[in-house]
Amino acid sequence: MKTILTGIRSNSEMTLGNYLGALLPMVRLANEHSDEYQINIFVPDLHSIISDVDGDLKKNSIRSLKYYLASGLELNENIHFYRQSYVPAHSELCWILDCVATMGETSRMIQFKEKSNGQDSCNVGIFNYPILMAADILLYDATYVPIGEDQFQHIELTRNLATRFNNRFGETFTVPAKTSDQVKFMGEEDGIRIRDLINPEKKMSKSTKAENSKIMMDDSPERAAKKIMSATTDSLGEINFDIKNQPGISNLMLIESVVSNTSLSEVVENWKGKTRYGELKKKVAESVSGLLSDFQNRLGQITDEQILDLLKEGEAYANKIANQKLLEAQKAFGLR
Ligand code: ATP
Ligand code: MG
Repeated sequence: MKTILTGIRSNSEMTLGNYLGALLPMVRLANEHSDEYQINIFVPDLHSIISDVDGDLKKNSIRSLKYYLASGLELNENIHFYRQSYVPAHSELCWILDCVATMGETSRMIQFKEKSNGQDSCNVGIFNYPILMAADILLYDATYVPIGEDQFQHIELTRNLATRFNNRFGETFTVPAKTSDQVKFMGEEDGIRIRDLINPEKKMSKSTKAENSKIMMDDSPERAAKKIMSATTDSLGEINFDIKNQPGISNLMLIESVVSNTSLSEVVENWKGKTRYGELKKKVAESVSGLLSDFQNRLGQITDEQILDLLKEGEAYANKIANQKLLEAQKAFGLR
């Protein structure tokens, strides 16, 4: 059986953008494929500590796994939950791959350049995390790793490291699918990008300071509705889907389409010729507050114990698979 692997850092609460753009598509993918693939859903807690963490990382980890269940993930024996730091083989293989990777290729990572801001004072983890990510993937012979565009370069790095290792030390790792095939597999046309409510030229980001710019998944439905009602629009007085000239209105239509599970073209058709922005906002506010109240209700019903039980199975599974692969790599390298 091939493996699909996914992890979302749980450094802080998620935005509606993270939820609609990353979590929901992953849950759909898992539900679609869990009869024919192993699905590894892990909390990359070792990746979290390269930057600041809001709140308690251990609690955030449990919460983020609850999110998958609250978003409709259908569990079966092929779905495995685990925390990265509970599977020590990740760090072990990372070191071995550190000795295969070159400074040149690792220094070229755009994420490193962006996250380090060119400052020598950044921690070494920021430099090294793409290699840890390669270990996360290669330990499980994962073929598909649904990721955003910002991670494409890291998948290419993983492919290069796996190929180099196999050539030098003998066939050990499955080379994951190339990014174009990853995208095809995810079935994404252009991916959903939810925009900032106050500055709709930018995407919604959890690190944006202004609270009214973003909807958080733990916002009360009333609070979220207020944020939508105060979203920036424009003075054209026509409801069109036109990201360039009417980014605010277009963003609201996009949110409406995804949240109400209606195609964008249908939403556009429904609002064609209408002029009252307040009406559109009211509709979107209702949809989003409905989504949040359903989501939060479901979330409230999932207990920590349920997640800890799933982790018990998942971490036993992950350690078994990862330790086998680590041993192969250690043997190939001459360590065992
Ligand atoms: P930060 O401000 O810290 O970068 P972020 O909100 O951009 O936070 P990330 O942790 O960078 O979130 O990304 C987590 C996942 O959410 C990624 O898969 C990313 O592609 C997706 N994502 C982030 N923002 C949006 C958005 N506005 N719309 C859709 N998907 C998003
Ligand atoms: Mg980001």
